Amino acid sequence: MARSQRIARIAEADAVVVIGLGRFGTSLALELMAAGTDVLGIDSDEELVQSLNGQLTHVVRADSTNEEALRQLGVHEFDRAVVAIGNDIQASILTTSLLLRFGIPAIWAKAVSDAHGQIFEQLGVQHVVYPEKDMGRRVAHLVRGAALDYIEVDRDFAIVKMSPNSLVRGVRLRDSDIRSRFGVTVLAYKRGDAGWRNADLETVIEDDDTILVSGPIGKAEAFGQLR
Ligand code: ATP
Repeated sequence: MARSQRIARIAEADAVVVIGLGRFGTSLALELMAAGTDVLGIDSDEELVQSLNGQLTHVVRADSTNEEALRQLGVHEFDRAVVAIGNDIQASILTTSLLLRFGIPAIWAKAVSDAHGQIFEQLGVQHVVYPEKDMGRRVAHLVRGAALDYIEVDRDFAIVKMSPNSLVRGVRLRDSDIRSRFGVTVLAYKRGDAGWRNADLETVIEDDDTILVSGPIGKAEAFGQLR
């Protein structure tokens, strides 16, 4: 089967095209593969393409600013695309505007600065991601408090993974009153080898559990700092 036919088949299978296979693009592409999603990876670097050969459904060397090259690869047939080119802002913007012109319904583009991201937003890209900035903010919250992990769900809401403090240890969550007193909710807990379970009002958190707490950022973080 010709290469273009094989790639068109991938596009039909609800696959994702990932353009730019640096650290971010490669990690994203491999994670998609691990989760069972087919990936067409594109990069202009031959060595990189060689090194990923066999690990992605299809990986090809091409200059993504070249419209004809993208069309030949069937990129216009995909429903989902990620532009993971960072430092070469010109290539990132040219590639993204080609994908928009193709009418790809869902495009994620990686921005390395606010200005870069603003251009994407003006172009009409629905999903702009700022990996360095977001990770920096996340680590800041980890450094500040006792949280084991921290996920910002939105600008004003977070989930904190933490060891249980004295307010939740040994009491039924119903009786802990943390929702009204602290504005947070215990979503889930992990106990020994049993793994994670959803928490409910009858759950009694034990000393060695790990818990997931959700709430407005300031409140979730403040709760995470109580011992
Ligand atoms: P990371 O932090 O993910 O490693 P980066 O921002 O440091 O990424 P960049 O060099 O900006 O890395 O881009 C990531 C990848 O995009 C590189 O592997 C590069 O070869 C590829 N790339 C850059 N321009 C193009 C292009 N026009 N066509 C295809 N691939 C490109």
